[in-house]
Amino acid sequence: MIRINENYLKLKASYLFSDIAKRVSAYQEANPEKPIIRLGIGDVTEPLPQACQKAFHAAIDDQGTREAFHGYGPEQGYAFLREAIAKNDFQARGANVDASEVFVSDGAKCDSGNIQEIFGDDIKIAVPDPVYPVYVDTNVMAGRTGKNVDGRYQGFVYLDSTPENGYVPSVPEEKVDLIYLCFPNNPTGATATKEQLKAWVDYAKECGAIILFDAAYVAFIRDESLPQSIYEIEGARDVAIEFRSFSKNAGFTGTRCAYTVIPKNLKAQDAAGNEHSVHALWNRRHCTKFNGVSYPVQKAAEAVYSEEGAAEVKALTDFYLENAKIVKAAMQDLGFDCIGGEDSPYIWINAKRPSWEFFDLLLNEAGVVCTPGAGFGTCGEGHIRISAFNSREKIVEAMARIKKALA
Ligand SMILES: *Cc1c(COP(=O)(O)O)cnc(C)c1O
Repeated sequence: MIRINENYLKLKASYLFSDIAKRVSAYQEANPEKPIIRLGIGDVTEPLPQACQKAFHAAIDDQGTREAFHGYGPEQGYAFLREAIAKNDFQARGANVDASEVFVSDGAKCDSGNIQEIFGDDIKIAVPDPVYPVYVDTNVMAGRTGKNVDGRYQGFVYLDSTPENGYVPSVPEEKVDLIYLCFPNNPTGATATKEQLKAWVDYAKECGAIILFDAAYVAFIRDESLPQSIYEIEGARDVAIEFRSFSKNAGFTGTRCAYTVIPKNLKAQDAAGNEHSVHALWNRRHCTKFNGVSYPVQKAAEAVYSEEGAAEVKALTDFYLENAKIVKAAMQDLGFDCIGGEDSPYIWINAKRPSWEFFDLLLNEAGVVCTPGAGFGTCGEGHIRISAFNSREKIVEAMARIKKALA
């Protein structure tokens, strides 16, 4: 009989969201008259900006006429979108990124998951803990790790994010080849300063390593001293790939559009020591396995950069940030140490007890659902994540209930 890829058997089943669902339905059965409030979700709740809707509709009308119809587009994305991205997200902030270095895709999840394909199978990889599970699981599937022992895969270098380091890991003692970083972070909401990112860029240069920088939450940064792109850091073009998405800024989680930046000068070597362009390798991979994002979706994404679209995205992210502020203030009033919630839609709360114990307390005493930090890695134990993606009404009600339950 045909054999499977046995690396899949190493994957630790994630019971996180099914465990949450089980406990929530048990609570609902026992308390049918008490509506629960879900603050555990990593999905947006507000509709697409008007500017995006208008562009989306107009592009669908184009598809309905012989003259303006678009068939297969360029795999890397239409020039109108790649140019708007390079100009607005990078050049406007002094970061040197050219439109030809932008690869438009249907998600930062797929891109950050697929990118490992173009690197060797015996490379040393550093992953954050707690972590967005995509970085870890895709490398397990590819056979780059050993077994999972006590919640950690053998072979990875884990970058601990703890109260001691302010949830921003510093560079490891040992040398690695590939480094996954995400700021503003999911799940912790932590941000990294220019100095902290510079240390990572310098380390990567020294090791001949590549940094995979996930900036999916960049639209939530309000502190002007914080870097928004890794390419704002000197030397980053020689060592970094950046992932971005329209999911969290413009609410494209169900519409699907994202992009990856690979500088043309970024190099990696073969076994014989010859250097190769990483941009060229990814271009080959992208063109072979991907046929482009739909034309109407790219037109909708382009509208994010119009005057109207930019104002709407600002208002949308301001709205979630105000929710985050309400959550953070309430939890701090109750005496909890929190991070995030200022330049991020996530608030990471030091629960001072096991994650699941605090989860149960909030569910049973307040009818509020959060995400237990232990589900994101061993360093997540003792923490919970609260998400600001919800209506103002529900956020305010949830905090009032938690205050009443815990005060
Ligand atoms: C939501 C999210 C993304 C975006 O994923 P899409 O596939 O573009 O929707 C990427 N990285 C992290 C850490 C996220 O939380």
